[in-house]
Amino acid sequence: MILVTGGAGYIGSHTVRRLLDDGRQVVAADNLIYGHRQAVDARAVFVHADLADKYSLQRLFATYPIEAVVHFAAFAYVGESMAEPEKYYLNNVAGSLNLLAAMRAAGVGKIVFSSSCATFGEPAYLPIDESHPQNPLNPYGRSKLAVEKILADYHRAYGLKYIALRYFNAAGAAADGSLGESHRPETHLIPLVLQALAGRDKSVKIFGNDYDTQDGTCVRDYVHVEDLAEAHRLALEKTDVFCGCLNLGTGVGASVKEIIAAAEEVTGRLCPTEYAPRRPGDPARLTADNKKAAQVLGWRPRYTDIGEIIRTAWNWETNRKY
Ligand code: UDP
Repeated sequence: MILVTGGAGYIGSHTVRRLLDDGRQVVAADNLIYGHRQAVDARAVFVHADLADKYSLQRLFATYPIEAVVHFAAFAYVGESMAEPEKYYLNNVAGSLNLLAAMRAAGVGKIVFSSSCATFGEPAYLPIDESHPQNPLNPYGRSKLAVEKILADYHRAYGLKYIALRYFNAAGAAADGSLGESHRPETHLIPLVLQALAGRDKSVKIFGNDYDTQDGTCVRDYVHVEDLAEAHRLALEKTDVFCGCLNLGTGVGASVKEIIAAAEEVTGRLCPTEYAPRRPGDPARLTADNKKAAQVLGWRPRYTDIGEIIRTAWNWETNRKY
């Protein structure tokens, strides 16, 4: 069986589904602080557990025949991480240490870890490849980088097999509309734009229009959540031949204004917007070099058109289940 921590979260729930479709048996663990119980596929075993609770983790490994772990469980609000770093280091770093200890005690030696392009900080060059320097700008990014380093140390010392996947901007929803993004509070651009277009929010704030980009707004690499889920499935099969970190993005960037224009085209509606100051710590441009992921995993994003990605998110937004 595969243990998916954070299995009720956005990327976690799509990955649980992908693994089940591939014929794997899955235990999805989540503390449900930000996750949604309804997001967990009924074919998975669900366990309500928190990484802070070492005893629950031990019991989990004693109860189920777990061969490998896909580890998503983490707090992921950058702004909150600046205000409450302790919360982030305890959950994201100490929680991961507890998980690794339970794995070692149970003799489980394989993990795929959910890392982030937030580990890079301000880009020195683009697109960002795996050897780009890592100088994260906030405690969230530093918590993810700390776990990457811990995994490398555990690999050297204990032979742990791991792959850390650094996502750029996860976006979109399951093509069949059954799963999607549901953060409370929502801070991400695409859902906020779609909520404004659905009439649920008044207007979208464009954070900065004086960046050195094609239209002055920030450029990000939006990668479809089902493509990310597929990368985790592939990574589970590759921990015997590769150990290390891989960047996951489409390689193509879209600006905030381009996202808004694409969403307007998909929905046939006009999005109310207003300019707002830059958000602290936002680089002008982030795009991924995905060549290594293609080479190691044989991974190629199927969604390469931002309009298509937004179409799946709009389908979810208008028929949300949770
Ligand atoms: N953004 C924006 N208005 C918002 C939310 C986000 O202009 O209400 C911008 C943000 O500055 C960034 C991009 O949209 O350049 C994507 O932000 P998001 O929070 O979705 O993801 P992040 O890049 O922070 O992971």
